[in-house]
Amino acid sequence: MRQKIVAGNWKMHKNAEETEDLLNDLIDKLPNDIEAQIIVAPTFVNLSSAVDHLEFTNIGVAAQNMHQNESGAYTGEISAAMLKSIGVNIVILGHSERRAYFHETDTILAQKVTTALKHDMTIIFCFGEELKDRQNKQHFNVVENQLRDGLFHIENKDWEQIVLAYEPVWAIGTGETASPDQAQEMHEFIRETIRKRFGSDVAEDVSILYGGSVKPDNAKEIFSKPDVDGGLIGGAALKADDFAAIVNSI
Ligand code: 13P
Repeated sequence: MRQKIVAGNWKMHKNAEETEDLLNDLIDKLPNDIEAQIIVAPTFVNLSSAVDHLEFTNIGVAAQNMHQNESGAYTGEISAAMLKSIGVNIVILGHSERRAYFHETDTILAQKVTTALKHDMTIIFCFGEELKDRQNKQHFNVVENQLRDGLFHIENKDWEQIVLAYEPVWAIGTGETASPDQAQEMHEFIRETIRKRFGSDVAEDVSILYGGSVKPDNAKEIFSKPDVDGGLIGGAALKADDFAAIVNSI
């Protein structure tokens, strides 16, 4: 069954104390009777504290990244098994900032997907075109290639663990949002692309989130679109009132 999801990607924000403050604020302010799944993704060093804080809540905890290998001499990296060992079962992969600043290619991302699935993790798989792609009318091609190269190697049964997050790079942190119609158009295309490769059951069940300058005042309209199943929120996830307002828009 397709699920509504609102996830907050905290990126490189909030130290230990600020993380605890925001988590406590979220526990106070987020609705606990909502059907949507709520997820937060603090930094690696604050994941354990987030898992502890949120143990008896309906808020899940995700990591923002992980390494594709099981273990070894990879200074500074974190493995799937390490995340699992502290109770983190969800991981964001393929964020455009990882692709752009840390040179994560589709090939590396496909490996990360395989590793995360092997460890039974849920993956929030991010992708999206850059401004120049949209200006050149290549946005559908770019997105199709990212889906193909990152995910087409998995099996139908694996899709129970996959959430898609379409994040047009030009809308991230810029204040510029894809219009609800632009989001719907692309989400419909994404679902169709998944349908062609994996069939209707997978396509109908997969949740496709929109990310890119989602705010309390635009969330409702974006979430109202039939192929938009929720959001991946950056800046507005760092304030409990704003994140709660977005969650309540679902
Ligand atoms: P903003 O909501 O700050 O645009 O960030 C979106 C994002 O990158 C979430 O992963």
